[in-house]
Amino acid sequence: MRSATRAARPAAAAEMPIGPLGIIPDERLQLMPRSVIPRHEFCFWLHDQIARLLVEASHCGQIDDWNEAVSDALQGIPDAIHPDNVLIAIAEAGGIISIPMKIDILSAVLSDTLHFVYEALRALEKRKFNVAFSLLRKPFSENLIILARLAANDDDFISSFADGSLQQKQITNIDASKRVELFESAISKLPIQSPFSGALINDIIFNKNMPNGLQIRMQQATHLITSHHPSLLTPKLDINRIFSNQYGDENFSAYDSLPVIIFFILQIVLYMFSRYLAVSEKSTNEILVRASGIYTNIYEGRLDSLSRYMNVALKGFFKCEWCVEGNAKIRKAFSADFYLRDQIFCTECRRLSHTPLTYLLRSGKLNIIEKERKFPSEYERLFLRDADH
Ligand SMILES: [Zn+2]
Repeated sequence: MRSATRAARPAAAAEMPIGPLGIIPDERLQLMPRSVIPRHEFCFWLHDQIARLLVEASHCGQIDDWNEAVSDALQGIPDAIHPDNVLIAIAEAGGIISIPMKIDILSAVLSDTLHFVYEALRALEKRKFNVAFSLLRKPFSENLIILARLAANDDDFISSFADGSLQQKQITNIDASKRVELFESAISKLPIQSPFSGALINDIIFNKNMPNGLQIRMQQATHLITSHHPSLLTPKLDINRIFSNQYGDENFSAYDSLPVIIFFILQIVLYMFSRYLAVSEKSTNEILVRASGIYTNIYEGRLDSLSRYMNVALKGFFKCEWCVEGNAKIRKAFSADFYLRDQIFCTECRRLSHTPLTYLLRSGKLNIIEKERKFPSEYERLFLRDADH
């Protein structure tokens, strides 16, 4: 693990690319191009945030409260409903009585997604490209459709889950225009929407004409011969992606799009859990500030607008601890130090100093979720309503 306070880094011109996030040991990153490492680490960081949210949700006791409340409600179930049909009746009823079922599906699909994504990212570290892209195919082209359907309209989803219409055709059997619509609908629910559009998510995962997208690679990594689409035809004297000298560093251009999809999944999870459970608004905001700050800076361009705003608005908090001349502020090259470790870089003495970012986030003084996107969760409405009065 790199030292969090290590100061000896290359000169920090304002537009230098972001440096490593410092969360993966160097020995694991030796086979990756240096320029890809921040994006790769960010993908892992996003994965870890989602995993943590899932674990915390399952241990916080609120899911048990939901299960208890529903089994109490079922005591009064009409005799006309046969016990075998209770789950179907709950799914058809939708609304709050079906929340434990929705949480079950969300947690299971999410856990399956994370297992695949984790192994795919590890395979990319080892340059096992076909294994990696093959592993990404199911979670991105199938699990993500279910996650998006839950975010877009969970009642509609569990109704199809229970009445058998979901199981009648493959998850991927959905028109491109309907997919874009579905992603748009899910995006409209997210706490912050700016990095995404339905067309972008769809293009990255499903568009066979996007050279830097994932579809061609996922298909060719999974099948030795592909013949169904002009952009996927396997040429004579070739078999898809098995000759080792054919594919190298260009595979890492997948990191142009991987962070987009995993960040999208993180936001769906934040939205879903804050609907079903009493999730701290401050924690959601904190995850989003840290994620958005890094996300914007892993791509080319100037320092992101939130950081530029903070460099002005929080000037009084940003001081070099080491030298009097001090010129310490958030810089693109060191933005991971700021968003993950509360530190800023001074170009005078070339050292890192501390900032009160975490304090500002946890005291509620730095909020990026707009008021109209905040709402009480179903859990708060049902279980905490009386506690407020
Ligand atoms: Zn200094």
